[in-house]
Amino acid sequence: MAKEKMEVKIKKLMKETQKIRNIGICAHIDHGKTTLSDNLMAGAGLISKDSAGEKLFMDDKTDEKERGITIDAANATMVQKYGDEEYLVNLIDTPGHVDFGGDVTRAMRAVDGAVVVVCAVDGIKPQTETVLRQALRENVKPVLFINKVDRLLNELKLDSSQIESRFLKIFTEVNELIGKMAPEDKKEEWQLDFTNGSVAFGSAYHNWATDVPTIEKTGINFTDIVEYCAQGKEDELALKLPLNDILVNMIVEHLPSPADAQSYRVPDIWDGDIDSVEGQSMINTSADGPLACMITNIANENQMGDICTCRVYSGALKKGDEVYLVGSKRKARIQQTGVFSGSTLINTGFVPAGNIAYVTGVKDSSAGETLCGVENKINEFESIEHISEPVVTVAIEAKKTKDLPKLIEVLRKVSRSDPTVKVNINDATGEQLISGMGELHLEVIVNRIKADDKLDVVTSEPVIVYRESVKSAAGPVEGKSPNKHNRFYIEVEPLDENIFNALNEGVIKEGRIKSKEMAKKFIELGMDKEEARRVWSICNKSMFLNMTRGIQYLDEVKEMILESFEESLNEGPLANEEVMGVKFKLVDAKLHEDAVHRGPSQVPPAIRNAIYGAMMLADPCLEEPIQKVYVSAPVEYIGACNSQIQNRRGMMVGQEIFDDISEMEFEAPVAEMFGFASDVRSATAGKGLFSTQMKGFKQLPQYLQDDIVRQIRQRKGLSDEPFKAEHYLG
Ligand code: GDP
Repeated sequence: MAKEKMEVKIKKLMKETQKIRNIGICAHIDHGKTTLSDNLMAGAGLISKDSAGEKLFMDDKTDEKERGITIDAANATMVQKYGDEEYLVNLIDTPGHVDFGGDVTRAMRAVDGAVVVVCAVDGIKPQTETVLRQALRENVKPVLFINKVDRLLNELKLDSSQIESRFLKIFTEVNELIGKMAPEDKKEEWQLDFTNGSVAFGSAYHNWATDVPTIEKTGINFTDIVEYCAQGKEDELALKLPLNDILVNMIVEHLPSPADAQSYRVPDIWDGDIDSVEGQSMINTSADGPLACMITNIANENQMGDICTCRVYSGALKKGDEVYLVGSKRKARIQQTGVFSGSTLINTGFVPAGNIAYVTGVKDSSAGETLCGVENKINEFESIEHISEPVVTVAIEAKKTKDLPKLIEVLRKVSRSDPTVKVNINDATGEQLISGMGELHLEVIVNRIKADDKLDVVTSEPVIVYRESVKSAAGPVEGKSPNKHNRFYIEVEPLDENIFNALNEGVIKEGRIKSKEMAKKFIELGMDKEEARRVWSICNKSMFLNMTRGIQYLDEVKEMILESFEESLNEGPLANEEVMGVKFKLVDAKLHEDAVHRGPSQVPPAIRNAIYGAMMLADPCLEEPIQKVYVSAPVEYIGACNSQIQNRRGMMVGQEIFDDISEMEFEAPVAEMFGFASDVRSATAGKGLFSTQMKGFKQLPQYLQDDIVRQIRQRKGLSDEPFKAEHYLG
């Protein structure tokens, strides 16, 4: 289709909210997302039909082509034919490697439906489960595409009944996951069904696919398909059963339009008043209403500045308009807006509600930012929950001192565009730390800094991020202010397990407690009633409770107390690592009657001392990140794989054998996993495949603790030993 003609169509369709589908394609790495996306692009005329299946159009960064995996979520808007009608499909291709899980989570906020791709040979993999969970958490409806069916026929030579049982296994497992993880009112409604076309299967590489309704309609059944493949006539099959048509049917018929989806999604992602003009305009996907838009991703293109991916929920983005950034409380002017088309941009100058847009001109913003009209300020959208947290850190340094300011600027940009990266900039020492989800994540970031930003940098060996916590209860201890006129008495204990798990799963959110409703939730989770009503703040999976009564002036210093609590948790007393999983209870306080003597130079140090002093008396411990490690290898290598993991302080937690291939599940500390990729390759003569997933933190064995604490402290330039409680309480 000529570019001009397509632009006209896009401009027309983007206003017809019933005819739009915002979708993500998500899957475990290598299951065929990118190849499938190519098929859609070819079907829409964005790339030539011949290159679909081979071109990997969505992988447009050089390092992606070199590594052969998808790293950034790439977007493409396309016009698709459905019968005699045309639909606008806004597609986001998301990465499957677990190290890039943040991109997947953010992409899910922008879309309403997801095509979950599962390889017929591999079946459901851990990352399939993770991406599906990410989709369902964001109220994104899934459909299923079973890919690489050609391999079942041509390589594994399975017969129809074996293939059927594979399909059934995948289908049943996906439905079980939907039943477990979908929002309560969607668990039934979103169940997949072979007979209605919400499940399709085929070969993205050979461009053919089918589903049960198509088999009935065309009369081309599975035996015929086996025959076509056996005779090497897959090209002919692709003409009879074009993958693109099947996919488009599935997307149009089973995934919701923004007009349908926003009505149930908006109340979940926006905590403003749904009955307000803004709320109703979002519920109704109204392009005439006030602007409400969320930035879900940022790409840094040097010539054009930041290119933000935005989901428009209400109103419209218009070239030249001034917008307000709710989180950073400032204005910006839109330079350009339009839609993505793979690596190019289509500048439409106007993008109405219900679409995924690109915007330029909104400088220095961050993924998760809410945009609205300058005259119509709205509440922020809920922050995007990331399932994993950064656990590996490298120090990065500019080779030439003159590059330091540029490096700092680039690092700030990296952390704004990828919130799963944590950047710690120390202007004083010149040491910059980047923490990411894994070794590969950091490697990619560093390589981009070298290649895209043309900076000559060196990095340290990666180090592990630990957490600090306590094993027992202690206190009350007294924290005194420097002028000795203010005293706070604090008790600590490990945080209730149920609450901790609920925080981990995102069932309860962090932040200051504003509503009484939260107390009910805490009580439901088993917390003591009195304590549940007295929570002031949740931060770093830790809680601060005010158990005092009738303390004069306490309300006036509340803000300072909480700021100090929240800040203290960033650097614990053992090794300056983040604190996690501790409950702090303020049980008494004495405050000076004159406000001058209980100001910001007095209250915060007193709180910090009480917090650290109490922790040092409560069996402080380090917690280390643990990964799940999934290895699949021929059965004769089980012993070799097992010993690789055991040498790394890990253990096997599950195993299944399928067609002489053992699917092993292990758990091991991230600290021991460096170099595992090459070790497992040589231990299995190259036949072992593995993937990892963050499991959470676990107490470091006591015999290692003192050494590791010392190592961290030396690395950070601290004294060898942590201070004793008396240091804080004296
Ligand atoms: P992604 O990591 O999920 O984006 O996966 P890709 O689309 O990059 O595909 C991974 C590999 O599987 C590539 O080598 C593809 O050519 C191959 N592949 C994808 N789909 C099929 C298929 O249907 N059949 C076969 N035989 N190979 C496929």
